[in-house]
Amino acid sequence: ATPMSIMTATGRGAQAGVLIKNAEALERFEKIDTLMIDKTGTLTEGKPRLVAVMPEPGHDEGEVLRLAATLERGSEHPLAEAIVRGAEERGVAMDEASDFEAITGKGVKGTVDGKAVALGNIALVRDLGLEGAGLAEKANARRDEGETVMFVILDGAIAGLVSVTDPVKETTPDAIKALHDLGFRIIMATGDNERTAKAVAARLGIDEIRADVLPEDKARIIRELQEEGKKVAMAGDGVNDAPALAQADVGIAMGTGADVAIESAGITLVKGNLDGIVRARRLARATMRNIR
Ligand code: ADP
Ligand code: MG
Repeated sequence: ATPMSIMTATGRGAQAGVLIKNAEALERFEKIDTLMIDKTGTLTEGKPRLVAVMPEPGHDEGEVLRLAATLERGSEHPLAEAIVRGAEERGVAMDEASDFEAITGKGVKGTVDGKAVALGNIALVRDLGLEGAGLAEKANARRDEGETVMFVILDGAIAGLVSVTDPVKETTPDAIKALHDLGFRIIMATGDNERTAKAVAARLGIDEIRADVLPEDKARIIRELQEEGKKVAMAGDGVNDAPALAQADVGIAMGTGADVAIESAGITLVKGNLDGIVRARRLARATMRNIR
C-alpha cells in the first residue's frame, strides 16, 4: 500500500467520522470476514430504562425498587443508572448501602438497613445458593420482549424482579442489513441473558449470538474464531470490550464509548453508530484495489 493512497483513505474516513488508526488497520480490515458486535451500547443505545418492578408475595413494589436503587447507587453500570433514575422518577426514596460490592458480569450486593441485599442475574441468584426456577416464566415473558430482568434478593430470598429495556439505535437495523449484504458473518456478543439476546437479535436479523458471556469470554471467542482461520473484527463500546477489541484482527470502538475501548481499537466510529463500518469497508476495498 502506498502511503499516499492510505492517507487519502484515512482522510476521507475522518471526514465521515471514521477514524482509522494506521495503514495496518485499513489493510487488515479489507480481509475481515467475521464481525462480532457487542449488544449493549453498540447495537442498542446503551441507555436502558426501567419498565417493570414485580414484587414477590409479601413484598411491595416500592420496597423492592428502594432496595434495588439503594444498592445501584454504588454502581456505574448502565443497568444501575436505569434503576436509580427509575426510582427517582417514581419518587422512591433511596438509602445508603454499606459493604457495597460489584460482582463483574453478575450484579451487585451490599447491606441495606442491616440486611443483606443483592441484585443481579440468574448466575448471581445461583451463586447465593438460591433457585430462580419458580420465576422463570415471569422472567422469560419479559426477556422475549428484549428486556433485561434482574433479581432482587433480600435476606437470602428473592423479593422481586426488576426489568429494564434498552432500545436498539435507530441506525442499527439498516446498518446490519448493509453489513450482511457486504458478506460479513455477524455474531452478537453480550453479557446479557440468552433469551433477551435472542429477542433483540431476531429483530435485527442476526442469527448468531453468544450470550451470558463474561468480558474475558469475548476475547476467547474471538481467539477461537481466529484459530478456525476467520479474520475477525470486533465492534464494542465498553471497558468490558477492551480485551476483545485488542484480540480482534481489527477492533472497532464507538466514539461515544469508553476511552480504553477507543485506545484498544484500530477504527473509531465517531458518531457511535454502525454505519461507519460499511463506510470503512468500502474505503478499505477501494484503497487496496487501487494499490494492486
Ligand atoms: P453487558 O454490558 O454485555 O450486558 P456485563 O458483563 O456488564 O455485560 O453484565 C452482564 C450481566 O450482569 C447484565 O446483563 C446483568 O444481568 C448483570 N449485571 C452486571 N452489572 C450489574 C448491575 N450493576 N446491576 C444489575 N445487574 C448487573
Ligand atoms: Mg457495551
